Amino acid sequence: MTIIGLDDTDSRERGMCTTYLATRVGERVVAAGGDVERRLLVRLNPAVEHKTRGNAALALHVDLDPATAFDLAAAELEGLAEVDDDRTSPGLVVVPGPAEAVPEPVAAFAADAVTDFHDLDAAVDLLDRAGYRHRGWHGGRGRIGALAAVGAWAAFDEWTYERISYREFDRCGTPREVDERSVFTASEAHYPDAWDTVDRAEGEAVCVPNAPGPILHGIRGDDPDAVRAIAGAIESEPVERAATFRTNQGTDAHLRPGAVGDLRDGRAYRVDGVVASEPATRRGGHVFFDLRPAGSDAAERPSDDPVQPCVAFEPTKRFRDRVRHLRVGDRLTVCGEVARGTLKLEKFAVRDLVESERVVPDCPDCGRRMESAGRDQGYRCRDCGERRDRKAERPLDRELEAGWYEVPPCARRHVAKPLVRGGFDAPVHPER
Ligand SMILES: [Zn+2]
Repeated sequence: MTIIGLDDTDSRERGMCTTYLATRVGERVVAAGGDVERRLLVRLNPAVEHKTRGNAALALHVDLDPATAFDLAAAELEGLAEVDDDRTSPGLVVVPGPAEAVPEPVAAFAADAVTDFHDLDAAVDLLDRAGYRHRGWHGGRGRIGALAAVGAWAAFDEWTYERISYREFDRCGTPREVDERSVFTASEAHYPDAWDTVDRAEGEAVCVPNAPGPILHGIRGDDPDAVRAIAGAIESEPVERAATFRTNQGTDAHLRPGAVGDLRDGRAYRVDGVVASEPATRRGGHVFFDLRPAGSDAAERPSDDPVQPCVAFEPTKRFRDRVRHLRVGDRLTVCGEVARGTLKLEKFAVRDLVESERVVPDCPDCGRRMESAGRDQGYRCRDCGERRDRKAERPLDRELEAGWYEVPPCARRHVAKPLVRGGFDAPVHPER
């Protein structure tokens, strides 16, 4: 087996797309008498998404020899990779297989590329030391992702599917003609084997991209037959070609364990903590709250306790209502990427809800609210003289339950795991 890794061939201007290129390379492999055993679509650290849209890298597992595979992929890149667009920096890496047995440093490089950052020197150094074939255009930064895609099959054990259907190339840039009703009907028939096809509450066909580019729709799921069936049932303009990818989308591969006070920008975490401020909606409709460390049991937060600001952005829509229902003292696990010191929520688990609040007591005789009897003197009723030493506990009506809440499909990041996929450590409240 030979592994072909490709990355950073997206052109924002002309709407090229790395998956399209990989599909074309796969066709060349078949035309040369080879076979494509597997196509991988690997989402790298989403914090570097501004570099390439979606920060995707691709790998093809083929049965040609490495030299032939390299020449054929390089020829396709030359022709299609938008190498004239110097904002892209394509890279090609070809490595002998099998993909499950690449050297450990290559697998480790892939794991780090999803949760962290690499520079080009590290990639080229690793490639040269291993004696792998590689080529870059416009600096060839894409070799970082290409090498990561090569190591991904060995680095990760959780994979989902995406069936990507492409437009006729000369239609790119025009509005996509897709019958949304057929999308909703097909999605309904195969949920939850396929997920994030639509957002029912928003009435949005999430599988149809808004950005320019050759993709007509991409159907994601755990079952390859289900994603193919949905793609086949959608009524639309002509589909020029289609391919099924194995992918780390929907797996939470980007998350790492973290602790409040110890989080860094550009990484994504799973963090335990206690809500430290009432959620507040700010300009633009974004909802913020602070989280303090999980360990602190004191009712009053120590002044030197760190806090971690968290936000549910406006595009997360109804998820913000879940966040607004949080109260100071609720125990949570939150997940998301940290940028400029703020954790951008993708999902959270309610571990323990505050079930009551302390209030000034009502008088048991006349029912009127008591008043403070003075500093440390408790409370008394002005009319009846009834006294109480302390505040009363009043039960709270909570809108939340224990378990996981998530952003809706319309706001899901590629790599974030939908709750409906299961495997979580608490009950789930999936959005669909
Ligand atoms: Zn009274």
